[in-house]
This record gives sequence, structure tokens and C-alpha cells, in this order.
Amino acid sequence: MLRVQTWNRTVDFVNETGEPGWVAGTNDGKSIFLQPLATLARKGILKATLRHELAHVAIHRLRSAAIPPWFEEGLALYLTGEQIDVGPYPVFSRRSLGDAIARPKSEGEMREAYARARLLIKRLARRRGQDALWQMLEHPAATDINWLKTESEQPVAPSPAAAPNGRARASRTASPTK
Ligand SMILES: [Zn+2]
Repeated sequence: MLRVQTWNRTVDFVNETGEPGWVAGTNDGKSIFLQPLATLARKGILKATLRHELAHVAIHRLRSAAIPPWFEEGLALYLTGEQIDVGPYPVFSRRSLGDAIARPKSEGEMREAYARARLLIKRLARRRGQDALWQMLEHPAATDINWLKTESEQPVAPSPAAAPNGRARASRTASPTK
């Protein structure tokens, strides 16, 4: 059973879910909560939002307790083939990927974090194949858990000055143009 709940007003979505108004939808692993459907339709993101949240629920059911939320987020984005529009201006954030995914401070930071999570999953799929994503999701090896922890602690989008090796740019390659 899967429950999908929506409201007629954004303010009610915000009050009931505790999410900021710029979040289109959310889920608790069992139920899906959406902004007013008319709002999502007007923005042209109704289908994409529902697809994204459905992917979360499917992933969530298989997810080991050792898997951090950013991995689930990245996997949902990767599987649905969504592109993250990080906007024309980079948002610098020295907060960790783990924190930025769990409690984003702005829409810009959230997009940066999503783009980074998606990129990490995409690279992992290239390196080890798509089956490895599911294997890791359900039964992460000790080395996987170490890798997940290391990536959780990395700054989501450091300023170029803070990352002279060019890491900041590399983390932004999951741009709308792919
Ligand atoms: Zn998500």
C-alpha cells in the first residue's frame, strides 16, 4: 500500500510536512506528500515529482540502515534520469553533503547537494556497474560504508579558493546541460 497526500495550499503542505515552500514533494519512505497538484502542474513538474518520490519509496524499502540519505537521493535522481538545474550562479556551501541533503538551508544549496549526490552515484555506476548500486543499497561492504562516510563529510560546494585542486568545479558537472 502506498499513500499519496496533497493539499490545496502550499502553506498547508509546509505546515503538515515541515518542509520549506520550495520543496515540490517529500516522503517518509511509506507515504508521498505533494505540493498542490495544480501548482506542480503549472510548473510542469507534476509527473517528475511523483516519479521522483515513487523512486524514493522503492529505494527506501531496500535501503540498509548503514546507507546515508544522500545515497538514496543520488540513486533516486540517477534512476529517474533527472537533471539538476543548479542555476547560473554557483552557491558555495562548506556544509557537508550529509548535512546539506538532510537539512538544506536554501534551494540553491539543495540543488548543489542533489547534483553532487547524483554525480557520485553516476560515477559509481560507471566504475562498478548498475548492479553494484543495488548491492550496496541492501548489503554495503565495510569498504562501501567507509566510502559513504567520507563522501558524507565532504563540503557540498566549496568555493574555488577553498579547493585549489579544482574539486569545486568537478562537483558541479551534473549541470542542466549534462
Ligand atoms: Zn529526493
